[in-house]
Amino acid sequence: MNLSTRITTLLGDGGSDGWEVFLKARGMIKAGTPVVELTVGEHDILTAAPILQQMHVEAMNGHTGYALVPGIDELRETVAARVQARTGVVTTVDNVMITPGGQSALFAAHNAALDPGDTALFLDPYYATYPGTLRSVSAIPHPVATRAEDAFQPRAADLEAAAKETGARSLLINSPNNPTGTVYGAETMQGIADVCINNDMWLISDEVYDTQVWEGDHISPRALDGMAERTLVVGSMSKSHAMTGSRCGWIVGPAEAIEAMIHLATNTTYGVPGYIQRAAKFALEQGEAFEAEIAEPFRRRRGIASDIIARQNTVGLIPAQGAMYLMLDVRATGLSGLDFAYALLDAHKIAVMPGESFGTAAAGHIRVAMTIDDARFADALSTLCAFAEGLVSEK
Ligand code: PMP
Repeated sequence: MNLSTRITTLLGDGGSDGWEVFLKARGMIKAGTPVVELTVGEHDILTAAPILQQMHVEAMNGHTGYALVPGIDELRETVAARVQARTGVVTTVDNVMITPGGQSALFAAHNAALDPGDTALFLDPYYATYPGTLRSVSAIPHPVATRAEDAFQPRAADLEAAAKETGARSLLINSPNNPTGTVYGAETMQGIADVCINNDMWLISDEVYDTQVWEGDHISPRALDGMAERTLVVGSMSKSHAMTGSRCGWIVGPAEAIEAMIHLATNTTYGVPGYIQRAAKFALEQGEAFEAEIAEPFRRRRGIASDIIARQNTVGLIPAQGAMYLMLDVRATGLSGLDFAYALLDAHKIAVMPGESFGTAAAGHIRVAMTIDDARFADALSTLCAFAEGLVSEK
């Protein structure tokens, strides 16, 4: 039987799917070779025991049946209050739908914003699932390149030109950014808002790293003038509370958009388990100090990395303002990010993601996930820098 064009073309034809270095590393590990993995965005700590205990208690108390599809009121209220407190935008349960993680929220948001054949803008470098998510709703993904020399802050003029050229109906942004570690400043965000308003576009704002900000402030564009009615914010417990496997996130937006997305959820996910939602509410109630604790190892390792990188001048660091990644410029070695990543894996059994995995704008860069313990992380970074310097002196 023939499969649909939509599903068979979901991944596009971008040549490299970006995962080859990662898969090679996993293959080596399976064959018994130890590899230092600086690839995926997964904490090196587990979900905190009190959250798991709460999950257990809630499950034992009977919250194991179907939960309300939009999310239980208590969690929707908690998320609404949190968003309102952080942004100043009036937010109620009607503005919130609980989803199985941020990824599902991204799917719902684009489903709500786009008709088949509509163009959807997103920024390159990008998180791996973005183009596929856009194709999954039969939209046309249109990347807009950001530049290393701008520390990957998007330029409003580039977005405006792309919006005009394509007649795009939506723009997807992610700040703090995976893979670049960039946090969009006030000027960038205002520029983005202006483009959306001028071109009557939806803004989908992926804010799953909003608790991991090392420099500057996280700005939610929903709080900017004229944006609440056209912004769909994606949030998640995954990164902020080390709950990646619990699959609990949310979408925040105008009440009529949420209502429409609830119909989508009824016909797709059918909601999130009640015991997970109750544990998520408990986790959110632990407050900002707990979130800072979860983020702390990345803040610390970013400091360790900055010191190591400052001692040499072959590898460049894109200012790491947020999220659990570093974007390193290895162009001075003359290698592509992909070739550098392969060479590093072969020579030193250290696995990183090539910048080319995230589109074309981060070519000649590598992404390092700060997701191993401090001592091994420092060792790996020192080895990486020395390796890059060695490549330059061989030239
Ligand atoms: N957006 C970005 C930018 C991410 O990095 C991730 C996870 N790596 C997600 C969304 C999805 O996360 P989840 O579905 O676990 O909330």
